[in-house]
Amino acid sequence: MAILGIFQRGPIKHAVLSSGQVTPDPARCVQCGICTYNCPVDIDVRAHAWRGEPVIHSHCLTCGECVARCPRGALRFEKTDLFTRRES
Ligand code: SF4
Ligand code: SF4
Repeated sequence: MAILGIFQRGPIKHAVLSSGQVTPDPARCVQCGICTYNCPVDIDVRAHAWRGEPVIHSHCLTCGECVARCPRGALRFEKTDLFTRRES
């Protein structure tokens, strides 16, 4: 479901993207840097993949370019509850 979301259109696509964060699988990453090269806001996605850390970055547009371009399928969107409204 995670990656499928970026290929959907309309409100569902935006809902998926706004609730997702790019998460790497360092075991699949070959450090080619294609993800970083294609990021429109110059986030060093490769470095995140090296460290195995999700891209939690205030400039990330959740545009999906890095996920779509990775030749190793090492990146995916993972749901986050960052934007979930909490009951008080
Ligand atoms: S494009 Fe994929 S394989 Fe290449 S550095 Fe980025 S995460 Fe690693
Ligand atoms: S989702 Fe888009 S903005 Fe965010 S790290 Fe990947 S390419 Fe960059």
